[in-house]
Amino acid sequence: MAIIPYDDRDGTIWFDGRLVPWRDAKIHVLTHALHYASCVFEGEKIYNGRVFKLREHSQRLIDSGRILGFDIPWTLEQIEEASIATVKAQGLTQGYVRPVAWRGPEQMGVAAQATRIHMAIAAWDWGAYFSPEARFKGLRLSWAKWVRPAPNTAPTAAKASGLYMICTLSKHAAEAEGYEDALMLDWRGRIAEATGANIFLVIDGELHTPTPDCFLDGITRRTVMGHARARQLKVVERAIMPEELAKAQEVFLTGTAAEITPVSEIGEYKFTPGKVCRMLIEDFDRLTQAASAASAA
Ligand code: PMP
Repeated sequence: MAIIPYDDRDGTIWFDGRLVPWRDAKIHVLTHALHYASCVFEGEKIYNGRVFKLREHSQRLIDSGRILGFDIPWTLEQIEEASIATVKAQGLTQGYVRPVAWRGPEQMGVAAQATRIHMAIAAWDWGAYFSPEARFKGLRLSWAKWVRPAPNTAPTAAKASGLYMICTLSKHAAEAEGYEDALMLDWRGRIAEATGANIFLVIDGELHTPTPDCFLDGITRRTVMGHARARQLKVVERAIMPEELAKAQEVFLTGTAAEITPVSEIGEYKFTPGKVCRMLIEDFDRLTQAASAASAA
């Protein structure tokens, strides 16, 4: 299937305070962010015309910027309004929103104190992140050779572009071997996350998930933990070693784009998508539909 390049589409993008024609939302090649990864972003999902968890995502965008040492020149409310305006201008009822904030071309070199902070928000129709069958059959993951860095090696709490360098490398390596994604360990050898989603293990009816001390504490992850607790499931955040996958009856990934997707294989470990994952998918679907119904009323 041919992909329409992202710079050559119809529509409207919010860019530094204005809605501009899609093809005009351009930056210069000497933009600091392009050379030095001074860039943060978000990924949000639209359900029935409403951006799910817009407040949490907008706040995380601001926080990510601060972690990279810059203040986005828009308030939380302005970012939310701009996101809603973008979705409306695009006429979307389902889809994806990508806010991004970055250091501009006013200064080149490692030092970037004089750069201006720019922000753009694009929204488009984007289907399933993984193949639609993955929701039933489960995903096949390889082991990534890259590990998540220590929190004093990289700003790991931010959703920052630079952190995705090893994710793209890991995902490409996985795809080249016929897998859908890769599971990354952290610098200590503990299970961390997939290249764009968090991981959960079901062990004897309890939900176990790695403590997010060097990778993104996903908004979907927190939502799913809340649902599990409401279902009286014990939720345990802890250090998880790779060998512990042998004890897991079910494994699944969570993320805005990934939603909740079961895993059928991680290297030598095999799993069957099961009822805990199915129940949490149903709870999640109910929440996304209810949240949108409430706003439509
Ligand atoms: N980890 C990484 C590396 C991600 O890119 C994402 C997707 N944003 C997640 C975890 C899940 O985060 P969220 O549930 O907030 O989308």
